[in-house]
Amino acid sequence: MTTSEPASELEEESAVETARRQLERAAAHLDVDEGIVERLRHPTSVYRVTIPLERDDGSREMFTGYRAHHDSVRGPYKGGLRYHPGVTEEECVGLSMWMTWKCAVMDLPFGGAKGGVVVDPKELSEDETERLTRRFAEELRPVIGPMKDIPAPDMGTGPQEMAWFMDAYSMQQGETEPGVVTGKPPVIGGSYGRERAPGRSVGIVAREAIDYYDWDIEDTTVAVQGFGSVGANAARYLDDLGASIVAVSDIDGAIYDPDGLDTTDVEDHDETPGMVSGYDAPETLANDELLELDVDILIPAAIGNVLTGENARDISANLIVEGANGPTTSTADQIFEERDIPVIPDIVANAGGVTVSYFEWLQDINRRKWSLERVHQELEDEMLQAWTAIRKEYDARDVTWRDATYIVALSRIAEAHDARGLWP
Ligand code: NAD
Repeated sequence: MTTSEPASELEEESAVETARRQLERAAAHLDVDEGIVERLRHPTSVYRVTIPLERDDGSREMFTGYRAHHDSVRGPYKGGLRYHPGVTEEECVGLSMWMTWKCAVMDLPFGGAKGGVVVDPKELSEDETERLTRRFAEELRPVIGPMKDIPAPDMGTGPQEMAWFMDAYSMQQGETEPGVVTGKPPVIGGSYGRERAPGRSVGIVAREAIDYYDWDIEDTTVAVQGFGSVGANAARYLDDLGASIVAVSDIDGAIYDPDGLDTTDVEDHDETPGMVSGYDAPETLANDELLELDVDILIPAAIGNVLTGENARDISANLIVEGANGPTTSTADQIFEERDIPVIPDIVANAGGVTVSYFEWLQDINRRKWSLERVHQELEDEMLQAWTAIRKEYDARDVTWRDATYIVALSRIAEAHDARGLWP
């Protein structure tokens, strides 16, 4: 879609369509070989596996798993594994493309991948989840590895699944290979600070944007939708810097205090469900009302597609920093562009997760653990480098922050394709 086309949201865009649209928008600003752009519209390969699972009652059930590899010109494939009933091949392909752009904008030596199993993890016992994960690791073993493709946790998976995955792979390889997955518990090669990293990077990017627009952080008001891993860490980071976090929400509702909430006092939703909405704040709001608050910064950090053609004209924030993946539909994006509301995109804002995953991989390969202080400092450095590159494109061209971010990503990927050429 170009900016001159009318806003229409009759059909919701899929992850593949979003990834391709962003690729084309960025390519229009760059002198990139059309053959390279065409190559990037498609994945390198998609693997579909059948995972037989013995249920606790002795019966057998088959599950379908996928792993999509998008592009590896800059290094091994990298991306999460989700356990969710809605996992599809097309979604894995789209999300693998997003990972290619995300790794490139952070200048990490990785390409994009994504995978998952079509399963509702809530319907599996712990033993069943372990057996499913171990068998999935075995089915994917030919196409993954520390120098090939490094999975990570995503929706429905976490450190325990990564530990089983790593163990299953290592047992079959005959040697301990911690670098085959990231997001592991620190005791077996996970990195300190991995859990906090995506929220922290949202906070760092928001801090840089505040500086760019010459605002005083002490006078900046912030509303955060979704006080989970990403939202709570972003809110606490900005709260520590002096910003006023006036509203936060979880799935049950929002709390509001125009004088600023104490974000360390409000529990993460995941730690204690209902704590956000049950917190004793001066005012409670519906989730939708939080999005429309008159604040300086809105951080949607819950789920995708919450800023839409329906509500984009009612958003009063002066700046949006995307904490969740894909919270803004393309129609809303177009409206924000018309209304001059800057949107700092997800692929840089929440990229702290994959960046600390990269640190974890480095630590695993070198068999040397970094301190939490070092992880924080290296993350700060990587975020500043990415922000500086994006800001340069933003200042040099008449584009949105999202376009500037994709321009940085695509130019790096295209340069690498140019340098390596096509084999044979
Ligand atoms: P989480 O489960 O820890 O937190 C999500 C929060 O959003 C919870 O407070 C939940 O109550 C709330 N929520 C859920 N549905 C909601 C709704 N309809 N309205 C309002 N609030 C709702 O999840 P998370 O790990 O913080 O992930 C949040 C988003 O960030 C997702 O889009 C995820 O893909 C993305 N993300 C996560 C990571 C990561 O490593 N955790 C990294 C990058 C991106």
